[in-house]
Amino acid sequence: MEALLVLIVIAAQSITILALLKQRRERKLAEREAATRRADLTRAARIATVGELSASIAHEVGQPLGAILSNVDAADLLMRTAPDNAHAMREIGEILNDVRRDALRANDVIVRLRALLQKQSITFTPVDFDAVLERAASLVRPEARRRGIVVDVSLDTHGTQVLADQVQLQQVLLNLAINAMDAMENAEHPDRVLSIATKTWGDGVELIVSDNGVGIPDQNVEQLFEAFYTTKSRGTGLGLSIVRSIVEAHRGTVTARRKAVRGTEFVLWLPLAPTALAGESTRSGDPLEQVTPH
Ligand code: ADP
Repeated sequence: MEALLVLIVIAAQSITILALLKQRRERKLAEREAATRRADLTRAARIATVGELSASIAHEVGQPLGAILSNVDAADLLMRTAPDNAHAMREIGEILNDVRRDALRANDVIVRLRALLQKQSITFTPVDFDAVLERAASLVRPEARRRGIVVDVSLDTHGTQVLADQVQLQQVLLNLAINAMDAMENAEHPDRVLSIATKTWGDGVELIVSDNGVGIPDQNVEQLFEAFYTTKSRGTGLGLSIVRSIVEAHRGTVTARRKAVRGTEFVLWLPLAPTALAGESTRSGDPLEQVTPH
């Protein structure tokens, strides 16, 4: 009788353990699926961001390509009309130099875009904060020009390194900058200034993106960061929630505040790369990091 009781207890315990193990496996699977979905969403948002910049990107690539075409026509004409003329040959040499420069310019835009759009797992590396942001700012400038907005960039962390995923950091700036430009849609012309500034702050670095646009309501600034909160007719309401999740994955903070006179300021803080980790290429333990590249 006693042996039977022991057997029943052991069986009950085994069933409980098995159930717990099953639960744990299912939870892990769900977590991994959620991380994959989150990464897909981040990438979809990145594609949407680039979509918003498409007119200026087309211009950025189209302009050098147009210049290449007309230069090639000019060289062709020179070769046909003055094939043995030393002066014409010199001119063709100069034209070829221009063609190379324009081709590199167009290629540079494509390379930057490809880096932004590629599906990849999050990789934390020690990066120069200012250099990464400057790369993102260069994607913003043509769009700002198109919208009649002045971009004032002042990067002052002087080579300070943070442990970050470069592409995601660029996405953060793109999202904040596009929002700032949207907010200035109806502002007077001389006031349309998007300013992007960095500085070291405490044991971290700060990025301040500021505009002179419509501003934000004083009450409940936090709701701006909620997913699907939008005041735009064609907004997704995902930009800022993605900014926050990226910043949190980097162990940083991001806040919004109303400027004294007019407009909004977003302040982002990221911790410095621990020197002990310099040279190490990845960090584990972040939920988003579980996503593998396709
Ligand atoms: P979306 O841009 O698709 O609306 P976001 O999450 O990026 O989604 O932004 C949510 C909302 O926050 C915007 O619809 C807008 O109302 C507000 N917002 C964001 N940035 C600014 C800004 N710089 N100035 C004023 N309002 C802003």
